Amino acid sequence: MDADRNLWRDSARETFEADVFTGKTSVDLCILGGGFTGCSAALTAARQGASVLLLEAETIGHGGSGRNVGLVNAGLWLPPQAVCDALGQGQGMRLNAALAAAPAQVFDLIETHDIACEPVREGTLHCAHSASGFKDLQARFEQQKALGAPVTLLDAAQARHRTGSDRPHGALHDARAGTIQPLAYARGLARAAAQHGARIHEHSPVTSVAQDGGEWIVTTAQGIVHASKILIATNAYHQPVKGADVPSTTPVHYFQLATAPLGHNLAAQVLPGGEGCWDTGTVMTSFRKDQAGRLILGAMGKPDALGLHADWARRMLARLFPQIGDAAFLHFWSGRISMTSDHIPKVMRLGGPGYAIFGYSGRGIGPGTVIGASAAMALLSGDEAHLPLDAVDGYDEAFTGIKGQFYELAARIAHAGGARLG
Ligand SMILES: Cc1cc2nc3c(=O)[nH]c(=O)nc-3n(C[C@H](O)[C@H](O)[C@H](O)COP(=O)(O)OP(=O)(O)OC[C@H]3O[C@@H](n4cnc5c(N)ncnc54)[C@H](O)[C@@H]3O)c2cc1C
Repeated sequence: MDADRNLWRDSARETFEADVFTGKTSVDLCILGGGFTGCSAALTAARQGASVLLLEAETIGHGGSGRNVGLVNAGLWLPPQAVCDALGQGQGMRLNAALAAAPAQVFDLIETHDIACEPVREGTLHCAHSASGFKDLQARFEQQKALGAPVTLLDAAQARHRTGSDRPHGALHDARAGTIQPLAYARGLARAAAQHGARIHEHSPVTSVAQDGGEWIVTTAQGIVHASKILIATNAYHQPVKGADVPSTTPVHYFQLATAPLGHNLAAQVLPGGEGCWDTGTVMTSFRKDQAGRLILGAMGKPDALGLHADWARRMLARLFPQIGDAAFLHFWSGRISMTSDHIPKVMRLGGPGYAIFGYSGRGIGPGTVIGASAAMALLSGDEAHLPLDAVDGYDEAFTGIKGQFYELAARIAHAGGARLG
């Protein structure tokens, strides 16, 4: 099995290609990074009539946006009350409300711009991996219900019916959520932004930014941009930019494997309703199908322990869905999550008209779309009231390397020890 065979790259129906940036230009907004955050910001700013240049170091969706599970969730990994505990009630409720509406915003963009990214709006199932996991789901259910969210708590029998697996101890269904082909979504956003006039360049890493006479000078190997505002949307895949002090966050690795399409009979038994799933385990597991009916299994862990994680995945697949048997995995890929210590994303001012946005902590499809768009609005208007959470002047997180190693150790112990989920 190839250690870097990304299903999303192989199956994306959206294509996008752009030239290297060369020469000199002036724009209202220069964006660094072509993931959900940067592309959403570019689309929003271009639709506002601003001149926009997006510079991507590799290709659109090279980072987390082209590697993730594709669960379009209605919030962060934290339950709503924990968000309020971390940010205070007012700001917490503002962020919760914005992210609750995020899936609708994502699916609206997909429809408006006709993005071919396999959208499925059947909700997600947060599956209890144990009795205590089910208690966690009960607490989340109460909190979401109090906010008027369309959530349903399923007992073990109902969860079995919905997933096709007898392992979950129950599940929380969130009808707002759904799944997408994430790389195709990122490419579709880029295409839509370009159609609205944004200029996008790939293979154009920004090497430095500096302020001069009230404007930004953004430099790549072959070009220079004069920009009124900048947005650094490089997140977990940040490549060094001289003059931009983008803080490090804890890198958490997450891998996925996909089977061949299951075939009609099996596909009708496994997740027959098409929901995307993840579990309550601390070393999280996810599973979903794509449009072709492949079963995609994912969990925390680095690709350099491919053998260990792949062995675990085979055991887990057999445990979750014995009806699939020992189907081979044809795709294996992984990505890096930017985790903050409070699991809340950051919009950081750059000491001039600009932000760096990072730290979605594993929840970037809805949040990246919403926060990227709102940051573009805040920068163009000069009004931070557009942001769904307060911008900060700095962010400092200690021991990110050691914390990242701790997550990896936990994943290896969990995957060496057994399969989990029930
Ligand atoms: C394996 C995995 C599973 C996940 N699952 C989910 C999920 O199911 N649901 C969900 O909501 N979220 C999920 N996430 C999180 C989500 O994918 C990320 O939060 C999101 O993609 C971040 O988007 P972004 O645009 O901020 O950054 P990225 O998508 O990482 O984009 C940053 C871009 O910046 C570019 N770049 C870096 N340095 C420079 C430079 N100097 N100059 C120019 N460009 C530069 C990079 O090449 C990259 O393309 C997952 C993440 C991973 C890794």
